[in-house]
Amino acid sequence: MARRLKVAIVGAGIGGMTAAGALHRMGHEVVVLERAPELGEVGAGLQLGPNAVKVIEALGLNEAITRTAAEPVDMVSIKWDDATLRYREPLKEISVERYGARYLMAHRADLHALLCSVVPEASINLGWACAGVRQSAGAAEAVRADGATLEADVVIGADGIHSAVRTALFGPMPARFTNQICWRAQVHVDDMPRRVGPGGSVALKSEDYVGWIGPTGHVLFYEIRPGKVLNIFAGRVSEGWAEESWAIPSSREEMIAAYAGWNDAMLEVFTKVDHVYRWGIYDRDPLKRWTEGRVTLLGDAAHPMMPTLAQGAAMSMEDGFALARWLDAMGDDPKGALVAYEAERLPRTGRVQIQARQQFENNRKTPTPPALSRDWIFEHDATTLRHPGATATAGA
Ligand SMILES: Cc1cc2nc3c(=O)[nH]c(=O)nc-3n(C[C@H](O)[C@H](O)[C@H](O)COP(=O)(O)OP(=O)(O)OC[C@H]3O[C@@H](n4cnc5c(N)ncnc54)[C@H](O)[C@@H]3O)c2cc1C
Repeated sequence: MARRLKVAIVGAGIGGMTAAGALHRMGHEVVVLERAPELGEVGAGLQLGPNAVKVIEALGLNEAITRTAAEPVDMVSIKWDDATLRYREPLKEISVERYGARYLMAHRADLHALLCSVVPEASINLGWACAGVRQSAGAAEAVRADGATLEADVVIGADGIHSAVRTALFGPMPARFTNQICWRAQVHVDDMPRRVGPGGSVALKSEDYVGWIGPTGHVLFYEIRPGKVLNIFAGRVSEGWAEESWAIPSSREEMIAAYAGWNDAMLEVFTKVDHVYRWGIYDRDPLKRWTEGRVTLLGDAAHPMMPTLAQGAAMSMEDGFALARWLDAMGDDPKGALVAYEAERLPRTGRVQIQARQQFENNRKTPTPPALSRDWIFEHDATTLRHPGATATAGA
């Protein structure tokens, strides 16, 4: 550690708490500023590709995540209407060997609680809505609407797609509606259909990661609490969406109606859901820069993306750890650390944003879309320094 820094992180989401946890473990002072009056996450599932799991391991949370998350055995792709098998591929068997870590499925609230457990409670300020940032030669400040400020060596905007920090740095930038809407809900794992397809030819297990692939959308079933909770992600094309809200309550009936004509076994599962949320999916073109002096961005504040590759939270976790690494290695030059962080992260996250769109467009064009390779995404290890001249590997 070059110098102990004070780092203000705006937003206690998955990206902000990853950065806070990594910095705290490296010995820096973190102050998290969160708008919400209490900590929490929506009740939805999250895929954690091997690249995200490497960050969780580096935070010392390997055992803890193993106790809560599920590890799917196979990826099973079936057709939306008659449930014919498209393919069954091993996931558990190959993941560590090919990508260096497991592929896990977690409840967002479980993952968020784990990340929060790394950070001292006293470092998290709730009900603190950032309205802007100010900076001088030697410090940066997060500013509230009532004029209260919090000074630090650097300020990190981890405040999501409608980031106030990004607006303060670069001005307002409306997000783009992607023509995708999604429903997310949960049922008991026993509700996973056991035999589907012509003559019941396709056998399914609760440890399968099942994708129903159709021309207007795709529906995923995967376990997120072993033996207990099965997550449903249902995404489909939609030409119109009026609300800019992130998630709004929906209903079982609305979800079933949106998938009229899809396979009966799949719709039968929809009849079991209680609480359903609907999302309008927004993204942005990759930004040219995230950093201005002592202030930078991470996660959805920097690069909101379509969920087609299930990488939004994973990228925010990679950002959080990479940022902590650079600040730790270059504490005597925090502005230089932010420049190095952006140079490392912006090309990768931009590529993921674009591939997520491409995959969505492919899915729209053909009922049996080829999957674009995600090997380059999964292989990556954001917990190690990779730039020439870098001198340290941030351990946790
Ligand atoms: C339907 C759907 C499915 C998805 N599935 C996956 C998946 O399977 N795998 C995956 O990796 N990703 C997935 N994602 C993406 C993932 O949810 C996001 O990319 C991720 O949550 C971004 O994390 P973040 O910390 O950057 O932002 P957020 O989670 O949005 O957190 C931002 C935080 O900042 C706070 N905040 C906002 N404004 C202010 C302010 N002015 N002052 C202070 N605090 C503020 C908010 O209250 C919040 O706590 C999915 C997304 C959607 C919509």
